[in-house]
Formats: sequence, C-alpha cells, structure tokens
Amino acid sequence: MDAAEFRRHGHDVIDWIADYLENSEQYPVMSSSRPGETAALIPDHAPEESEDMSTILADFRRDILPGVTHWNHPRFFAYFPANNSAPSVLGEMLSAALGVNAMLWQTSPAATELEEKMMAWLGELIGLPYGADGSQDRFHGVIQDTASTATLCALVCAREKCTAFAVNAVGAAGLAGAGALRLYCSPEAHSSVVKGAKIAGFGSENIVLVDVDESRAMDAEDLDRRITTDLTNGLIPCCVVATVGTTGTTAIDPLERIGPVARRHGLWLHVDAALAGSAAILPEKRWILNGVEHADSFVFNPHKWLFTNFDCSAYFVKDPEHLERTMAINPDYLQTDRDREVRNFRDWGIPLGRRFRALKLWFVLRNFGARRLREKIAGHIALAEEFSGWVEAEPDWELMAPVPLNTVCFRHRPTAWSETECNERNKDLMDRVNAAGRIYLTHTTLDGRFTLRVAIGQTQTEREHVVEAWEVLREACNQ
Ligand SMILES: *Cc1c(COP(=O)(O)O)cnc(C)c1O
Repeated sequence: MDAAEFRRHGHDVIDWIADYLENSEQYPVMSSSRPGETAALIPDHAPEESEDMSTILADFRRDILPGVTHWNHPRFFAYFPANNSAPSVLGEMLSAALGVNAMLWQTSPAATELEEKMMAWLGELIGLPYGADGSQDRFHGVIQDTASTATLCALVCAREKCTAFAVNAVGAAGLAGAGALRLYCSPEAHSSVVKGAKIAGFGSENIVLVDVDESRAMDAEDLDRRITTDLTNGLIPCCVVATVGTTGTTAIDPLERIGPVARRHGLWLHVDAALAGSAAILPEKRWILNGVEHADSFVFNPHKWLFTNFDCSAYFVKDPEHLERTMAINPDYLQTDRDREVRNFRDWGIPLGRRFRALKLWFVLRNFGARRLREKIAGHIALAEEFSGWVEAEPDWELMAPVPLNTVCFRHRPTAWSETECNERNKDLMDRVNAAGRIYLTHTTLDGRFTLRVAIGQTQTEREHVVEAWEVLREACNQ
C-alpha cells in the first residue's frame, strides 16, 4: 500500500470510526452471533495474492461487525466499563503508526519519559504520594497491559521479598522443607489473584480467604487472626491482596485497617483497584484509598473507567529497585551507555517489548482535562445512585449490596417467589433482556442468590440510557 492509497483508505476508516463513535447506539449492544458463525465466514487459508483494501473493509463491516459486542455502547451495563474516547483512539493510531517498542529508554526516549510523566499525572490525580522526594513512602509508576499482569508482578515481588530472592535463584522446589508461602485476600478478590498465585508458585491451596463484613469488605481482624494461625503452624505469611472496588459489588477493603496488620507482620500489601481507582480523582471519593500509603504496590486501569482504550493499566510501586531486581535480566545486547542516567522500563514488568501506551493517555488527560474527567465519573456515580433509588422504591425489587460507586446489584423479588424460583426467574429475565439487544447487563452470585448487575461507566452513557435500562427491565418482568 503506497502513501496515496493509505491516505484514501485512512480517510475512509476515520470516517467510519467517527460515525461509529457518534452512532454506536444503533447497534444491538450484545452480539447475537452463534458459536462458529463468524469463523464460517472466514476462509480457511490466508490469501496467496494481495486483496484490495476496499474489499477488506467491506468484509469487516459485513462479516465481523455482527460478531462484535459493543463495549462502548451507551447502553452497555455488563461486567465493568472498558470505555474509550476519540482522543484515546487518535493517540492509539499514532502509537500504531510509530510502532515503537519502548523496552529501553534508548529505543525511544520520548516513550519512556512521557510514560514517567503520565504516571506522575495519574498518581497526583488520584492522590497517591508520588515521586522521588528522598523518602521511601512514595510511589513510582509504570504502564502495564492489564491489572492481571500487574498483580502477577506484585505477587512475584512479594515472593522474592519473602524468600530473599531464593525462588528466583533455585526455584520453588529448591526450597523444599520450608513452609508454604501464604497469600491473603477476601473471597471477593478478582480471579486474576488466583491465577497470579498459581503462576507465581504460591499454589491455589495457599490462598487464605479472609472473612468479609456485611458490605463484603475484608475484615482486618480476621486477617490478623489468620496470619497468626499460619505462623503458629509453621507456614510463611507473605502477601495480602486488598481490593478497592471488588468485581462483584464494588466493595472497598479498608486499607487503613489492613495496612497496619500487613506492616506489623512484615507482609507485602498489594492493592487491586482496577476499576475503582479512577473514582479517586473525585475529592469526595478519595476516601476509598485511605491507607494506601501502607501499600507496596497498587494497580488501577485507565482502560476501565478513564476513557483510555484497552489496554492501559497503571501500576505503582514503592520500591522500584526491588521490582527491577526481581525482574532483572541483563543480556549484553540490551545494555546501553545511558543505563545509569535513565529508566529502562523493560525490567518493570513481565514482557520485554512494551507498547507506547503513554501517548493515548497523554491525549486523553489533555483533551478532557481533569475537570471534565471528574464531571464524567461523578455523573456515572450519580446515575448509579439514582438507579439504586428506583430499585429501593419498588416493593418487588431488592437492592443486594451497597452502592459506593458505579455498580448496582439487585434482583426482582416478588414475595411469592421461593429463593430457587427467584434465581431462575432473574436468570431468565437477564437472558431475555440481553437477547432483545436494547441493553446488556450481567450477573453475580451473592450468597447463592442470582443477582443482576448494572455497571454504569461508558463514555456516552447519559441519564436517558439508564432510565431506559430500568424501563426495559420492568417491562420484561411483565412478559
Ligand atoms: C477488571 C478487574 C481486574 C482485571 O483487569 P484486567 O486489566 O483485565 O486484567 C482485576 N481486578 C479487579 C478488581 C477488576 O475489576
């Protein structure tokens, strides 16, 4: 493809994207594609000869789009938001065009230095103690692909701190005879914690589930008791993962109570605020991070609720030297003359190669501005509060969890229904509503109860969309 052709098709693609961002509402939110339906449209072999770009783009519209669920649809209320925005898309396009691998400072100084600045901006926006001021109690940041990867990094760092780098050297099997390393989290912690514990060699059997209170937040006293019991039994307490904004109900583990327990026992504290971290840009929600100064590592995802398209996860650590030492590899071909003066992010995470993700973040933070970001997020939270009010006002509906942020957990519960019937009917309600395509929502299970969830956080979601969601649900109940 020459430059003239690129320009022509590029304009077409931009036009298509602009229409899409403006009119995504015209699509059914959830794809109704059946298993195998898209695959059946794609040839079994790569073409031998070049195909025309116009044909490829037409096939994208005809064959691919029907199999797409529209995450940025204003009536997408499923799982959690993964919102994007026009400035983010533009930044992503430039990053793709540059095709930079930001593994070392030297492989693109601007990529590393912009990333350092963006992490400082983010840290300040959410109120983290950030940057070098000589004290140990400040965070330093790096962009990762996902919270799952960041949490895995944290668990590996915790493991190496606990074993004085022995597992890195001799492997877990080499420590035979030592007690098992133990990891503490609540039953509401994200599945990435379990996955990370398996990969990092803790083993899923060494995940200790700590009790939660009535809001499903971790009980710090129970944490203390479980650590003490493990110590008595010759096990090695290593790491606590606290969740700020759990996936099920956005429960907030109390860092100001968990932190001192972790510190007293010398445990690593990792904070997973993948979704909820963005809410801390609001002064009135800052409290969700009270006690974060006790953490060793902290992650939140601008790719969830900060208008930056997937992927972009912000990972903060207190001790970057420990992170680098844990991850360090230093083959000759990666050494440069600048290594003493600059930051090389290659050892701040798992992959060597790194995308230039700071660019889209820079575009988003500048084009929105902090004030507009706050307005958007406060708007989502206000809509969630309003929705929960509607649920509470109806005798046949039940609110299933507190609503501190953007997610409402509820169910349809006429008094005549048994629990079993209630579970079946709410599942049926969800399936019917999703199949109809106006809204898309998902569920969680709370104490065996099938619970509907509405997570509000798309860039273009306005009050009318939330009103419609409530109407669609109530009408579907009468069918
Ligand atoms: C979404 C989520 C994750 C996983 O995020 P990825 O970036 O997809 O890995 C982890 N923890 C919590 C609390 C989440 O909400």
